[in-house]
Parts: sequence; C-alpha cells; structure tokens
Amino acid sequence: MTHPPERILLGPGPSDVPARVLAALARPTVGHLDPAFLALMDELRARLRALFRTTNDLTLAVSGTGSAGMEAAIANVVEPGDRVLVAVQGAFGGRLAEVARRCGAKVETIDVEWGRAFDPADLVRAIRDRRPAVFAVVHAETSTGVRQPLDGIADAVHDAGGLLVVDCVTSLGGMPVEVDAWGIDVAYSGSQKCLSCPPGLAPITLSPRAVAKLDARRAPVQSWYLDLSLVRNYWGGDRAYHHTAPVNMLYALHEAVGMALEEGLDERFTRHARMHARLVAGLDALGLSLLPPADVRLPMLNAVCVPGRPDAFDERAVRARLLADYGIEIGGGLGALAGRVWRVGLMGHAATARNVDLLLAALDRTLAAA
Ligand code: PLP
Repeated sequence: MTHPPERILLGPGPSDVPARVLAALARPTVGHLDPAFLALMDELRARLRALFRTTNDLTLAVSGTGSAGMEAAIANVVEPGDRVLVAVQGAFGGRLAEVARRCGAKVETIDVEWGRAFDPADLVRAIRDRRPAVFAVVHAETSTGVRQPLDGIADAVHDAGGLLVVDCVTSLGGMPVEVDAWGIDVAYSGSQKCLSCPPGLAPITLSPRAVAKLDARRAPVQSWYLDLSLVRNYWGGDRAYHHTAPVNMLYALHEAVGMALEEGLDERFTRHARMHARLVAGLDALGLSLLPPADVRLPMLNAVCVPGRPDAFDERAVRARLLADYGIEIGGGLGALAGRVWRVGLMGHAATARNVDLLLAALDRTLAAA
C-alpha cells in the first residue's frame, strides 16, 4: 500500500498527525551524531521536560513504541527479586505486571473491576502493607477509559522506601501530568496519542531518586537496548554512540511537542475536556452511555457501552461501516471488554468539534441502518 487512505483517527491511537509533523518527518536525514541533530535532541529534551512538567535531567525519548517506554521504565529500576506492586484496572496494568515479572520481580497486583478507578486510599493502604520497591500504575487506562486519581500515592510509596512508576501513554499532552508536583519517579508515554506524532517513540523521564537506584544497581539492566545508563550517554554526556537514533522520527516528535507547547498545555487540556463534554452530550442524545463513572472518565478516551446484547448486535459491523462509509476509525474493546465497548479517542490534533460532530452524525446514521 504505497498510498494509504485518508482516515479520521478517532480510536485509541494512533491519532491524526498534523501536516507540520508529517513535513518534519520528510526533512533530510542527517547522521545521528551530526552537530545539528545533537542540537535538535537537546531542544527536544527541554521540550519534553516542559511537557512532563519536570526538571529531571534524565528525560529523553526511547526508540520504540509506548511498550518500549514501559519496558524501559520497569527494567531500569527493578532488580531481580524486587517486590513490585502493580495496580491493575485494565489491559495495560496487566501488561505492566507481565513486564515486571519478566524482569525477575516478585510481582503482586491489586485489582479493581474494569471500568472503575481505585479509591486512592485503598492504594495507599496496599502500599503501606506491602512496602514494594516499585509501585506501578497506569494513569489513563486506555482499555477502560478510566483516569486513576493519584492523590497521596507518591508519599506512601516514598515512605515505604520505594519508587513510583506511572504510565502516561494516553494522558500526556491531553490532561495534566505533573511529574515533579506529584512526586512521580518514572513516567513514560508514547508519541502516537495526545502528541499526534506517528507511533515509534516513547518519551520517558526519571527523577533523581530513580537515577540513584539505576546507578546503584547490583545487576545490569536486563535489556541492553533499553539500558538508560548507556542510552543517556548518547542523549547527554559524551554523546557516545549507543544505537542509531531514528533521526526522522525525532524530527517529528520535536515538531509535535513544539506544537503542544505553542498551543499551551493548559489550553490543550481544556480543549480535550471541551471535546469530551461535546461528545458525551451527543452520545447521550443518541441514547448511548459511557462505561466509567463521570468523575473518573478520561477526556481523550471514551469507552462507550455497545447497545443491545453482545450475541444479538454486531458491533464490529458498525465499526466497519464507519470506516468504509466515512473513513472514521474507532476502536473495539480489549480483553474482557471485547464486544462490550467502543473506544472513541479524541486525542491531540483529532480533538476538534468538527470530528466530534461528524462522528456523532455518522454513528446516528449507521446505528439507524443497523
Ligand atoms: N500503556 C497504555 C496506557 C497504552 O494505551 C498503550 C497503547 O495503547 C501502551 C501502554 C503501549 O503502547 P504501544 O502500543 O505504543 O506499544
């Protein structure tokens, strides 16, 4: 497929990529040690710090998708035998637990029904009881559309002598993520959601506390490729070759984060919240409801309950019609929610009134025909 169709990407990611970012991708490739490129990397790091709202020195973009960010986050701060507690509210919490297991951690999970958030007080209690070396949680659970409140979590983790790892793959750039103010030790994200860059890079940031643990490791990081004690020498330090950086993708991320900062983060969060409210009102008029309770809904990922009985209503056919007739992509449910929810993303560049109204009209017609 040399000429992909034009789509409107209103699924769980990737989101629509603006022309400025596509143009950045097409700029001439230079060497990964070219002084001009090293300067762009420095500027990108400064932009990522602003985006994460942190002063953390060790802030960069991992070469790989959000899952590479997740693996990097866990692999660098977990040593074999460490006790790791993971809060699981959906598919990505489950993935975090699996990654930690593969790093040799003694993994315990605390679980909540899919579509609900934990009461932070329950998480604080679990952290005090189990005193994990690392506590990991997904901030915006893309499989359920739930925002996990993090009040009091960092203090509890730090009092227990541990580190707090937070998955911000879906939240970063679309709702507040305050790495320093919230006391997060490792946060990671992905380029393809609210940053509206193609998939392939994972912004990550480590607090001084996390870096101290990395520096004091007894065992080397189990992944050579994701070992940030090596990768950081290329992004800073002596700029030593580690792996050939995905040069053009980094141009694109530099542009995409630049656009987010130009818009203003607070203005961007407000836009996402407004578009979410517009969508929810329109869905309500169509008789459709959302899975999570109103106070913990994500603005950028809306888990819409599929109408009718799963055995009697073909939700896949609705998604196929939206794509074929209107070029609109929405997502289906993952795991336990397969067939039960549609996942409507309003992420980054795609979070516009035009897209919301178009989707609502298309959904209205498609459901009437179904
Ligand atoms: N974490 C969350 C919350 C996600 O939504 C995703 C992807 O949807 C990932 C991790 C994994 O990212 P990727 O698919 O880019 O590897």
